[in-house]
Amino acid sequence: MSEENKKKFSCSKCGESFGAYPPDDIYKIASVDKREGEKGIERSYMCSGDSKHKNTIYWYKPARPFAISKK
Ligand SMILES: [Zn+2]
Repeated sequence: MSEENKKKFSCSKCGESFGAYPPDDIYKIASVDKREGEKGIERSYMCSGDSKHKNTIYWYKPARPFAISKK
């Protein structure tokens, strides 16, 4: 895991930052909202604040670039 893949988030409860890595090379788009009808990977992270709040991040596949037709 390299540092450049790490993404920064803010805790939804206290605003403290925390870092998260994508679970793999495919699911790289992070979202705090669960997307209906889309397969995602759910991961929980603790914030860096004293209270260690649990934050859930959903990881999704990027939209396939080949599906976009430029005409
Ligand atoms: Zn927090």
